[in-house]
Parts: sequence; structure tokens; C-alpha cells
Amino acid sequence: MKPRKVPLRKCIACQEMMPKKELIRVVRTPDEEVRIDLTGKKAGRGAYLCGKAGCFRLAKKSKAFDRALKLSVDPEIYDQLEQDFIAVEDEFLASKELAADDE
Ligand SMILES: [Zn+2]
Repeated sequence: MKPRKVPLRKCIACQEMMPKKELIRVVRTPDEEVRIDLTGKKAGRGAYLCGKAGCFRLAKKSKAFDRALKLSVDPEIYDQLEQDFIAVEDEFLASKELAADDE
């Protein structure tokens, strides 16, 4: 049996390549809003971040979202995203554990 090909994406903060499902997607919507996309299916330009608060802080410090999303992201948006990120982190980690049980 051939091993399944896992799509890899790069975390914009630590630059590590990771399976897509291990990363949290942040999307720039067509109306130029920046938000976390847990479904990974929203339309728009996406950036990926591994599910660690530390990586989010790094991305915020280095303005990695500005570069990845080709948009000037306001500090308030970063603050909002950080709150959202922390809020979804638990959910994200829990869903990862569930997924691991399946395999
Ligand atoms: Zn990372």
C-alpha cells in the first residue's frame, strides 16, 4: 500500500513545514477582513500557523500576517486575532486528539 500523501503547509511564524491539519488557517476574506478559519475552506488568501500561542506572538511581532496576506494588518486586528486564537486553541487541540483516535 502506498502511504497517503499529506499536504504540507508552512507556519508563517516558525517556518516549519507541517501537515495542513496540524495548522490553523488565517484567511483574508474578499472584503479584506482577516480572521481565523477553523474549517480551512473559506474563500480568500490563506496563511497557516501552527496551533501554538507562542507562534502567534512571533507572527504578531514580526508582522508575518502582513507579508503572508499581502495586507497591512492593524494592531487592533492582531489583538483581536490573538484573542480568537487563544479561544480556538483548546478546540483545535481537542479536535486533533479526536482525529488521532481515528487513525
Ligand atoms: Zn509555528
